[in-house]
Amino acid sequence: MPPEKFSWKHLYSEVVTTGLCTGCAGCVIACPHDVLDYDDTNGRYKPIQIEDFGGAGDCSHGDKACTSCTRACPRFRDWETEVDEFMFGRVRNEDELSGVYKDIVLARAADPVLHEVGQDGGLVSAILLHCLDEGIIDAALVSYLEGDGTTWKAKPGVARNREDIIASAGSRYTYSSNTLAYDEAVEGGAENIALVGMGCQSSIPGIMKARKAGKVARRITLSIGLLCSKTFDDAIFEELFEAKYGLKKSEMRKMNIKGVFQIWMKNGDYHEIPLKECHGWTREGCNHCPDFAAEHADISTGGIGAFNDWTLTVVRTDLGREIMGALLAKGMIEVRPGDDDPGAIELMHKLAKRSRKRWPETAVAAPRLIGA
Ligand SMILES: Cc1cc2nc3c(=O)[nH]c(=O)nc-3n(C[C@H](O)[C@H](O)[C@H](O)COP(=O)(O)OP(=O)(O)OC[C@H]3O[C@@H](n4cnc5c(N)ncnc54)[C@H](O)[C@@H]3O)c2cc1C
Ligand code: SF4
Ligand code: SF4
Repeated sequence: MPPEKFSWKHLYSEVVTTGLCTGCAGCVIACPHDVLDYDDTNGRYKPIQIEDFGGAGDCSHGDKACTSCTRACPRFRDWETEVDEFMFGRVRNEDELSGVYKDIVLARAADPVLHEVGQDGGLVSAILLHCLDEGIIDAALVSYLEGDGTTWKAKPGVARNREDIIASAGSRYTYSSNTLAYDEAVEGGAENIALVGMGCQSSIPGIMKARKAGKVARRITLSIGLLCSKTFDDAIFEELFEAKYGLKKSEMRKMNIKGVFQIWMKNGDYHEIPLKECHGWTREGCNHCPDFAAEHADISTGGIGAFNDWTLTVVRTDLGREIMGALLAKGMIEVRPGDDDPGAIELMHKLAKRSRKRWPETAVAAPRLIGA
């Protein structure tokens, strides 16, 4: 018997329609036949089949043994075990709640502009600038706001220089499938690309490489992760912030989540919305996500902890260590030991454990059982 070929049919029935699909778009960019598109309307954030063939779960190329989409999906079958083994040479231990890592530090950009525009310490922006300047990457897949920013609709885009990095810095808490900017980066000539994204996206390079997904896998050479427990539907702006609190999105300047949803307005006002009021707008793709700590990134970054303007930084790979070392040597970042804020590390593990419990019993066991 030839080995079974896993195609769109399997992905559709096991991931897209079962609640496991995060909307990361790994499958969309991996599809060599352009039969997958992406629907981000009405809070869907899901891949769709656009070929004039069969139904939503059919694909003529899949029927001819094309397996590209399943090779790129960080929720298909035993994805977590496969990426752990590929990246770290072993499966994580029971006590490695936030994944395998080498170092945890607190870091911030030395450049005052990057520090200012960054969500926490501006570390991600500093990493991208360094990697572009040194030719380690020639493009990064990041998130911008559409138009003049007043709609707060996050959209994927490409950063190629300092101006782009500054324009795309900061966090939006609605979904941006940065992966989708891959084609634009390649059309612009990029060969070595960084992917910035939450855990759902930062596992894409690892799974693609582990499952030998070809050219796309080879081009995404750096994965920068953002710690994340959920994103919200775009409707939260009108249906909660405006309807209940009278806060218009066009008047918002910045937002953050630190135990509460924090909103800074352009007129200088500051508001806090209890998180429990926001939960009703949790994006569907996040409901079963087990990955809080962006556990397959080269470097994972977060904002929890006692120090607001530092980035909690989890260095996972040799490449991640090399980049952090080079940034430090060039004076581009300031670093202090993670032990300066043990509460932040403890909270990261606690939130990672909580996310793991969301992985359903009906799916493969590993993401749920480890540390749960
Ligand atoms: C949706 C979301 C949820 C998060 N939840 C948590 C959390 O619960 N706990 C925690 O500690 N940290 C969380 N973070 C991470 C935190 O907000 C910072 O992104 C991280 O600390 C890096 O800060 P920085 O100043 O170094 O990054 P910056 O230099 O500001 O760079 C941030 C990068 O993130 C990209 N980005 C912004 N918004 C999005 C988006 N919606 N989707 C994809 N990419 C985006 C930007 O384009 C930019 O490249 C979350 C981030 C996001 C986007
Ligand atoms: S989780 Fe990502 S790769 Fe998997 S089906 Fe959904 S969008 Fe595609
Ligand atoms: S919780 Fe965060 S990492 Fe998980 S699917 Fe949602 S956006 Fe992605």
